Amino acid sequence: NLSIKDLCIEYEGKQVLSSIDIEIKNAHSIAIIGPSGGGKSTLLRIIAGLETPSSGNISINGKDIAFRENFLNEYRKSIGVVFQSYNLFPHISAIENITLPLVQIHKLDKKDAVQRAESLLKRFQLMDHSHKRPSQLSGGQQQRVAIARAIAIKSQFLLLDEPTSALDPELTSEVLDMIDELKGEYRDLILVTHEMGFAKKACDYTLFIADGKVIEHGHSKDIFENPKSEQLMGFLDKIL
Ligand code: ATP
Ligand code: MG
Repeated sequence: NLSIKDLCIEYEGKQVLSSIDIEIKNAHSIAIIGPSGGGKSTLLRIIAGLETPSSGNISINGKDIAFRENFLNEYRKSIGVVFQSYNLFPHISAIENITLPLVQIHKLDKKDAVQRAESLLKRFQLMDHSHKRPSQLSGGQQQRVAIARAIAIKSQFLLLDEPTSALDPELTSEVLDMIDELKGEYRDLILVTHEMGFAKKACDYTLFIADGKVIEHGHSKDIFENPKSEQLMGFLDKIL
């Protein structure tokens, strides 16, 4: 459950999100779609606790996010985040990318961290690449390692910001398959994406954001098959 009340944020006096008000129940996977510059990443960063809104409240599964430093420090540890690009630490191997946060931030034993990392790498067919640095991996492999790292902490929430935007179609489906597989688990995920087919098929709920406002939101099927606003119709026409 995600509830956002009267959320606003401005940068340099410019309103980037204005009065976002939504209440979503019984959705485990939420897609955020919309034109470039509309505020999708900004909203995701606020939900991740990486940015503080000018006003408003967010609560996730009934718990408010308190935008205070000591709360946020703990809160950020509890969610997995994957960004558009530049996800991995460049100077260490794939497996170390996964184990480092587990050991340093989550205080796992090295041995347990390696075990957890290996089981994820195996599961996502990345074992052959575990010793490679990010620059030696394909874009799709890098994003899969980034997602493995984000879920290694066993967070309840996974936030993904266009995890496939830098990938060609084949690698895109590789990463989308992986995300689809995660949905079967206990996790809730919020995904910013330009992959409309995936949003429709794989996400329970879709938010359409443009010009800093939620223009339409609803079950994915309704949003894609029965758009109501001119803006969403125009957006879908252009992109499909
Ligand atoms: P895209 O699809 O291109 O990723 P988006 O919907 O994710 O776009 P945001 O990154 O949320 O868009 O940006 C929304 C607006 O806020 C943009 O006009 C952007 O220039 C502005 N913006 C975002 N972050 C900052 C910042 N730190 N300082 C100033 N302006 C910002
Ligand atoms: Mg963005």
